[in-house]
Amino acid sequence: MVYPGAGRAAVSDRSGGLPEGRSPSRRLSCAPRGFRRPSPACVPQPPPLSEPQPVPTPVPEPELEPVSTPEPKPEPKPEPEPPPQPANTRLYVLMYHHFIREGEEYNDWMLTDTRFREDLEWLDSHGYVTVLPSQLAAGEPLPQRAVMLTFDDGYDSNYTLAYPLLQEYQAKAVISLIVKYTQEEVPGFLTWDMCREMASSGLVEFGSHTYASHDEEEHGIKRRWGESREDYEARLFPDLQTSIDRIEENLGSPPLLFAYPNGLKESWAAGFIQDHFAITLTTKHGASDLSKGLYSLNRCNVSMGVPVGDILPD
Ligand SMILES: [Zn+2]
Repeated sequence: MVYPGAGRAAVSDRSGGLPEGRSPSRRLSCAPRGFRRPSPACVPQPPPLSEPQPVPTPVPEPELEPVSTPEPKPEPKPEPEPPPQPANTRLYVLMYHHFIREGEEYNDWMLTDTRFREDLEWLDSHGYVTVLPSQLAAGEPLPQRAVMLTFDDGYDSNYTLAYPLLQEYQAKAVISLIVKYTQEEVPGFLTWDMCREMASSGLVEFGSHTYASHDEEEHGIKRRWGESREDYEARLFPDLQTSIDRIEENLGSPPLLFAYPNGLKESWAAGFIQDHFAITLTTKHGASDLSKGLYSLNRCNVSMGVPVGDILPD
């Protein structure tokens, strides 16, 4: 007996049991639907053949330079300090008046420009330092070898012949004016323009040598014979005050220094002078000790016959 469908079953058996008309699918379980090629990631790869790995040659480490620790330097021995010099209070004040050119006739109150140059050269080479009234009045310490150059009366040769040499040697000087001569532009004397130019250099300061009482028959500010104190003060004080006022008006500051005409002092003027000036100069020869004050300083006249080298210690 043949059962119905028994022959078909045999055909089905040849197709692997799948419904008719369908080919067997080779789709792998991890492949996205519709993707037919197998992904390499999904295909198990054979393990790579293990090639012999080159043995790395060890690179020698560069040798490090040894860090040198600086040797501690021995502390330099401090120079032995020179023993402190006592503060100098000795000042030499040199007195000059008029300057002339080489070959002109001269007297004791004149000096040639050549000789003035030699004086400045000598001071420089012997370590002398020039100082100004403002330094003394301010109480600045004196250089060990201190000298103050003073020019009296206010001759125009102070500007034409001496000032260029002061500039060349950077030497300082104070000029004591007979103020009336400058104010009235008397020929042969400094003008205010000359004074201003010199003052602006910082090398020159100006003092008073009275306004018009310089001569008084060679007695300067001394009282006249038989003059009362009242008359004396009424005559002299306005003269001194005028000298102060004109200097201040023209040069910007009142004078600090008064040079006694002919070196002559007058006790009746002492109070006024000390009220108005910080420094006064006589003509007494010698050095001055500033520990005793700034009044009545000595001065040494420099002349053609007496160079500074004969006055000051070497
Ligand atoms: Zn004079």
